[in-house]
Amino acid sequence: MSLCLTLRWPFRQFMAATSFILLVACAEKPIAAAEASLPTASGPAVQTAAAPADTPAMPTQSFEDWEAGFRVQALQAGISAAIFDHAFAGLAPDPSVVTADRSQPEFSRPVWEYLEGAISPVRVRKGQALLAQNADLLSRLEARYGVDRQALIAVWGMESSFGQFQGDKSVIRSLATLAYEGRRPDFAQSQLIAALQILQNGDIAPERMLGSWAGAMGQTQFIPTTYATHAVDFDGDGRRDIWNSSADALASTAYYLQSSGWQRGQPWGFEVQLAPGFDYNLADGVVRKPVSEWMQMGLTLPVGTQMPAGADNLSAALLLPTGYRGPAFLVLDNFRAVLKYNNSSSYALAVSLLAQKLTGGGGIVGNWPKDDLPLSRSERMELQNLLSARGYDAGTPDGIIGANTRKAIRQAQQQFSEPPDGYATHVLLERLRQP
Ligand code: CA
Repeated sequence: MSLCLTLRWPFRQFMAATSFILLVACAEKPIAAAEASLPTASGPAVQTAAAPADTPAMPTQSFEDWEAGFRVQALQAGISAAIFDHAFAGLAPDPSVVTADRSQPEFSRPVWEYLEGAISPVRVRKGQALLAQNADLLSRLEARYGVDRQALIAVWGMESSFGQFQGDKSVIRSLATLAYEGRRPDFAQSQLIAALQILQNGDIAPERMLGSWAGAMGQTQFIPTTYATHAVDFDGDGRRDIWNSSADALASTAYYLQSSGWQRGQPWGFEVQLAPGFDYNLADGVVRKPVSEWMQMGLTLPVGTQMPAGADNLSAALLLPTGYRGPAFLVLDNFRAVLKYNNSSSYALAVSLLAQKLTGGGGIVGNWPKDDLPLSRSERMELQNLLSARGYDAGTPDGIIGANTRKAIRQAQQQFSEPPDGYATHVLLERLRQP
């Protein structure tokens, strides 16, 4: 969501796959610079992601000169001069957008705190009330798109607190700022063209086209290119209004999840426990096996829980958000579909658990390793340097725990005779600091 965006790098598809959650100021979303994300089969998620820390070059031209050049491109892309000139009238870059874009948080919010905020009793109650109020609409959406009503409500809650917090920045101004002096100018330009197209279609008036600093818009927090491909006019008024129509917003979410591989009637996954001696190399969120095969490898269900009906033959990956000491989950196709909305396993877990609560299910049984807080950004960079110095190639020391760093961590853990779960801890950092 958008009121807590100081740390969210625009456009979630740039999410780096690492094993930390850099959520700091925002109660709703994991910040993406680092996050245990499962790779998704194809392209972009809907929204913001953290990008590696590219140092942006200062613009070499004035904003006015940039605008004149961009205007030519926009008109070539089919935007009318009248639409462009109206949208850009009196427009100047937004310094707060530049600040947000360049912010590199030092501290990360632990996943358990993030989930606590995401699945708060208040939110669950609000979600239950909205399930009841929108029952007819949700039935039609389930019939049309095959996505569970609880999942739709959960995404709605996570994205904008059910439409309450959509961001209050001009999308055109934010994207123009990012296209002029952001870290990903080409990407921002393509979003800006798509945003102008929305205005040209007459879906929303320019002054009402509000969103996050990164250009995520409306109740669904779609970026403009996602809007172009997946926004839906479900209330039939001729406009795709994800800002003011909850029917349009929920239908757009349903269509996006359907397109992302949502399987009608299937569960998201379920919590498991690992037996001592389990091969933690397999718990990388990538290796997929039928649930029955995982269970034969010694996985068990926590006391008081049941495997969702029909899960036995489905293909699953094993997710350990905080390494071997924390809870474990087998995650299925619908979890992967949610990752395409926002490529963060913490986000997908929050949506899945919120939906589970809305269905009357329970929470997580396992205990989080609360005595080991996430490493800070500088500690992660130090960890990467120490790993590489020992011959475990952790890649560029950028503070982002990606696939290379996780592999290096596993190698070091193996050498120290620790479970090779690829999770960066203070214990490991301390160990690596010793000669
Ligand atoms: Ca509509």
